[in-house]
Amino acid sequence: MNESFQNITHAAQRKAVEKLIDSALSKVKKDREDSFLKMVDLAEIFLDASVSKKQFDSIRNMIKDPDNRWMNYIDRAIRETDPHVAKMTALNLGFEAAFRGTKMIRKNREKYGCNIPWLILFDPTSACNMHCTGCWSGTYGHKHSLSFEDMDKIVTQGKELGVYLYMLTGGKPVGGCIAGGRNYFHINSAGDAEPCVFIHYSNANIHDSSILEILRSPLFMEYRKGQPFNQNHLRPCPMLENPQILQEMVHRAGAHSTDLESPETVEHLCGKCIDYAKEWAEEADKIWGQKEHKTPKYQNYASR
Ligand code: SF4
Repeated sequence: MNESFQNITHAAQRKAVEKLIDSALSKVKKDREDSFLKMVDLAEIFLDASVSKKQFDSIRNMIKDPDNRWMNYIDRAIRETDPHVAKMTALNLGFEAAFRGTKMIRKNREKYGCNIPWLILFDPTSACNMHCTGCWSGTYGHKHSLSFEDMDKIVTQGKELGVYLYMLTGGKPVGGCIAGGRNYFHINSAGDAEPCVFIHYSNANIHDSSILEILRSPLFMEYRKGQPFNQNHLRPCPMLENPQILQEMVHRAGAHSTDLESPETVEHLCGKCIDYAKEWAEEADKIWGQKEHKTPKYQNYASR
């Protein structure tokens, strides 16, 4: 089965993985090792050279280690989750998103010369009458909702590009800047495609643009050209820590404000971050300089 895995259809691949998942879920922890190792063998064939042999071997060692904290976590998740939910999560998040989607995304990034994300966040509606502390819905007005057809379009077109993970509303992403479709982007309840849930500027709307057109829209392409916005990953953001950069990108792109309640110029927005950015820069550079940091294989997708 392994040698021909590359050549068989999506449906047959899914079936093969489903069998391994069924087998892993039906066993107790110590007997699952074999099924997990077979999944890693399949992933190694399917993902070609995009993950190194060393990385696959370290996953195998992790699976064989009975005290590994991740394996204990997976075991607990399997024991405490409804079997159907566990199976569908493994199939959709594991096989479709991480396994198959990643491969399609990498190909499509080169084919279309733009970012293709791993995740799309969208807000089905801002029509919430609650006022929960910390939630943005209460402050974004109550006028906008995406229709079923809008949401169907987002997911159908996203899947064609390899995007298998969708989050309805969301939270603050961590690490370097992953916005602008590099790993994710956001569609608000009026359909505006924003590079990030916190960056309310756009050139494209889902009501008149395809997902691919959104990913190739001027502001998203500015993100692609500019990332990472700072080599110090404690200062990743083009708005918060590098406020000059967002201003330049929005102007070059000719993007407009998509703030649903109080539209503001990019100078006004970024002006509020200048003092913070200056103060944090000194401290962040001191902390960043205390350690050596690995250079990632590639950082800027546009120059690959
Ligand atoms: S660094 Fe800024 S723009 Fe990038 S994902 Fe984080 S909040 Fe959004």
